[in-house]
Amino acid sequence: MTFNLNKIVSPNILSLAPYRCARDEFEGSAEIYLDANENPFDNGLNRYPDPYQTELKKEIASLKNISEESIFLGNGSDEAIDLLFRIFCIPGKDNYIAITPSYGMYEVCGNVNNVERRAALLTDNFEIDLPQINSQIDSNTKLIFLCSPNNPSGNILDVNAVQALANNFHGVVVIDEAYIDFSFSESATTLLEKYPNIVVLQTLSKAWGLAAIRLGMAMASKDIITLFNKVKYPYNVNLLTQEKALEYLKEKKEMVSQQIAEIISERERVKELLSTIPAVIKVFPSEANFLLVKMDEAENIYSTLLKKGTVVRNRSKVILCEGCLRITIGTPIENQKIIEQLTEIIA
Ligand code: PMP
Repeated sequence: MTFNLNKIVSPNILSLAPYRCARDEFEGSAEIYLDANENPFDNGLNRYPDPYQTELKKEIASLKNISEESIFLGNGSDEAIDLLFRIFCIPGKDNYIAITPSYGMYEVCGNVNNVERRAALLTDNFEIDLPQINSQIDSNTKLIFLCSPNNPSGNILDVNAVQALANNFHGVVVIDEAYIDFSFSESATTLLEKYPNIVVLQTLSKAWGLAAIRLGMAMASKDIITLFNKVKYPYNVNLLTQEKALEYLKEKKEMVSQQIAEIISERERVKELLSTIPAVIKVFPSEANFLLVKMDEAENIYSTLLKKGTVVRNRSKVILCEGCLRITIGTPIENQKIIEQLTEIIA
């Protein structure tokens, strides 16, 4: 099916004149800036930051092997999720499909933007059910949200199924790769050249250890990124975030790689240990930094862990995750501790 971007963008966005500041009008730097009503006394933070995060995008582009024009940076990938609804969906008229169970913000942002949700239940192994998704698509379906590795199940989605969807869909397929750095599978960014209707989301909040600075990214065709730039708030990524992200991308890559390797090795160790605990029915395969664990009496175990001072995510009421807790991989000491606590609770 041919994908025609202009046909699926909300008409108000197509005709939108983006906010422009005086500094958009010229290249390079001026001697005196009296255009933006800033406080002139230099404290390192008195000027507005670069609205297009040029230096940071350069670094990310070389890391991801894509062009700078294919990158949008936002206040966490949550901002990108919200903007996707605002760019593509007419409130009260359009709809989107999201795999289920998956990350909760697709539904929250869909509700905020008054866009109808169509839940596409995954199979028992948390794989994409293509016929089920296809049966829900109609001419008002604008977005399909996939998440790989999926939260809360931890598995990678089959790339052939992802491509089959993108091939046959008139709208945009979003692949949320918040956890891709913990996986040995290839990122869907490799599909971007072939598929003009794929948007890949990534974040510095997980593997990069920078959840506090709020930096997420959307990667897609230049035309889609132009739309993000039209809709975003002018200075959506603050200077402190831009600087800290640059520091990590330039100087901390080695350290981050080592941490990722340790988290992956801990994931496998914790998985083995959990499997020896009698109340554990199943530990699902994970390519993320968490494990979905099906247990007898998950609710009780959850509240007893809380009393012992350990918080995990209770997913026991989530469809297909009945009886499951989602446990993030911590430091080796934290992991040891939760294994001990679980062993105590069950004894
Ligand atoms: N996507 C998924 C699948 C997530 O699990 C999360 C965070 N829990 C996010 C996106 C949000 O990432 P960010 O911190 O970049 O907003």
